[in-house]
Amino acid sequence: MARGAKKPANPLAAASQVLFHGQFMFKKGRGLGSLYQAAQIESFRGIKQDISKTAYAALIVEMVDRLAEEGHPSSGLYHLLIETLLAMDKGLDAEVLSAIFEVKMMAVAGIEAQLDGCLRCGSSEGPFHFSINGGGFLCKRCCGTDLYAIRLSHAAERLLPLLNILTSRESATFILRKKRSRKSARC
Ligand SMILES: [Zn+2]
Repeated sequence: MARGAKKPANPLAAASQVLFHGQFMFKKGRGLGSLYQAAQIESFRGIKQDISKTAYAALIVEMVDRLAEEGHPSSGLYHLLIETLLAMDKGLDAEVLSAIFEVKMMAVAGIEAQLDGCLRCGSSEGPFHFSINGGGFLCKRCCGTDLYAIRLSHAAERLLPLLNILTSRESATFILRKKRSRKSARC
């Protein structure tokens, strides 16, 4: 609870918005705690000035809100969220960043995809398809077991296993570089 936060002049009004990164002082209660003070760390001005970026940022925050357990701090999840939002704020492609974030959040949700070989026979030899149903790669011999498996490009095959190792910024930079080189190859 943030008393008076609906009034624009109230110092807690900004702190009650979805996209506010700061330090908070609140009193724990039986139900909802009471927020007393908040100091801003990041303004995310670059995101707030762009409606499309704001929508992607809200989607990311919503995912964290649904998957994080209240009362169980997760520094990994916190840093992933902040790193992604800062990269978006600085101008990296919001759509690409939110897609990377979704893949990274799959592990948090307990649905980590098998990306180090075929999920049926274990073969590490590409080309691979991606089975949404099976949750991972299927090799050339096994891809017939899922009619809806998606054929992956060579770049996607190499990038997907790295998404959990690379930071969001590194992954987005890699994807965007590939996109740019594909565009210039077409010209
Ligand atoms: Zn296989």
